[in-house]
Amino acid sequence: MRKKKRIALLGATGSIGKSALDILRREKADFNTVLLSAHSDREGLCSLGREFPAARLALSGSAADSGGGIAYYGKKGLLDAIAASGADIVINGVAGAAGLEPSLAALEAGADLALANKETLVMAGPLAFARAAEKKVHIIPVDSEHSAIFNLLTVHGVENLEEVLLTASGGPFRSYTLEQLKRVRPGDALVHPTWKMGPKITIDSATLGNKGLEVIEAVQLFKLPPEKISVVIHPQSVVHSMIRLKNGAVYAQLSRPDMRLPIQDALYWPECTGDRAVEHLNFESLTLEFGRPDGGRFPLLPLAYEAARRGCLYPAAYNAANETAVAAFLKGELSFLDIPRIVEYVLSRDWTASPGDLEGILEGDRKARAFAETHIRTEKL
Ligand code: NDP
Ligand code: MG
Repeated sequence: MRKKKRIALLGATGSIGKSALDILRREKADFNTVLLSAHSDREGLCSLGREFPAARLALSGSAADSGGGIAYYGKKGLLDAIAASGADIVINGVAGAAGLEPSLAALEAGADLALANKETLVMAGPLAFARAAEKKVHIIPVDSEHSAIFNLLTVHGVENLEEVLLTASGGPFRSYTLEQLKRVRPGDALVHPTWKMGPKITIDSATLGNKGLEVIEAVQLFKLPPEKISVVIHPQSVVHSMIRLKNGAVYAQLSRPDMRLPIQDALYWPECTGDRAVEHLNFESLTLEFGRPDGGRFPLLPLAYEAARRGCLYPAAYNAANETAVAAFLKGELSFLDIPRIVEYVLSRDWTASPGDLEGILEGDRKARAFAETHIRTEKL
C-alpha cells in the first residue's frame, strides 16, 4: 500500500483552494490534509475544519484569537503553521505577492511545493530554487500552462527543446478595439470566457498581464531565455501549452479547462497521475483556433518580456505595479487602459539592484507599490 501524502493547502477558501479540496475529498486513501489556511473567510475556514478534523487551521488576515478551532493567526501564524505542519507537499493557492513568504516557508520546512502562486517565481525565482536545492525538495507547477510544459518536457527532454508555446485565451476583450477597451468596467472584466478564477487573475487574464506573469514564471521554472517562449492566443483554453522540439515536432497537452487536473498531477508527482480528474474532451464538438497576441492593445505582454529580459528587480516591480493598478481599477480609480500605463511608468524607474535575499526583494516590492500609488494619485492619466 502506498503511504499517504500529508498535504497543506494554503488559500483553501479561494478558487485554487476549492479545486484542490475536491481532490482531497475524493482521494482520502492517498492524502491526509494536515493544514488549511484562509485569510479573511473565517466562517469558510471553520467549516472546512469540521470537514477535515485532522487539519490545523490558520487564518492569516486576523490577529485575534476568535475560536472555532483556529490555532494560528496572522501572517506569522501562517508561517509558523507551515513550519509545524509536517506536510510532504504544500499547495500554495494564496493570491498575489502575499504568497511569496509562505512558499519560502514551505521549502524551508522540507516540503515539496505545488505552486499555483506564480508571484513566488516572478518575484523571487532564483531564491526559491536555491532554497529548494538546499532542502532537496521540488517546486512543481500548478499553473495549467506550466504544468503542461513540465509534463511534456519530462517526456521529451529539455535538451531537445527549441521553444515553448505558451497558450493564452486572450480574455474577454481579445477582439476589442482600443476605443472599446477604454470603456471596459470592472464588472465586464470580471467575467472570463473559459476559466472560473479569483478576481485578480481574472482581470490579469483580460489585460494579458496574467500571460506576462506566466512568461516570467516559465523563464524561472524552465531556465529559458524569454525569446524561447512564444505566446499563442487560443480562445478555447483546451490546448494548455505546447513545446516545439529541435526536430520540428510540436507536442501539446489537451484537456478541458479545469484546474483539478494540474493540481492532481502535482499532488501525485512523480509516481502516477491518479484517476480521472476531468471529464473527457468531446472531439466531435471541438474547434481549436490559434492566433497572435497584439502587444499594441495589450501592452502588459511586451512589458513582461522587457522585465524578464532585464531581470534583477524588474519582474518584481512589474508584479507589484500591476497588483497596485489592478486594485485601483477594481475600486474604480483607474481605467482599464491605465493599468499598463502604471506598470510602464514603474518599470521606467531603476530596478537594476539584484538582491539575493528576501528582505531586498520585499523592499523592491514596497518601492514599486509606492511609485505606482503616487503615480495613480498625482498624475492625470
Ligand atoms: P482567490 O482570490 O480565489 O483566492 C485567494 C486565496 O488566498 C483565498 O483563500 C484567500 O483567503 C487567500 N489570501 C488572500 N490574501 C491573502 C494573504 N494576504 N495572505 C494569505 N492568504 C491570502 O485566488 P485564486 O485561487 O484565483 O488564485 C490563487 C493563486 O493561484 C494566484 O497566484 C493565481 O495567479 C494562481 N492561479 C490561479 C488559477 C485559478 O484558476 N484560479 C489558475 C492558475 C494560477 P480568503 O478567501 O479567506 O480571503
Ligand atoms: Mg495559467
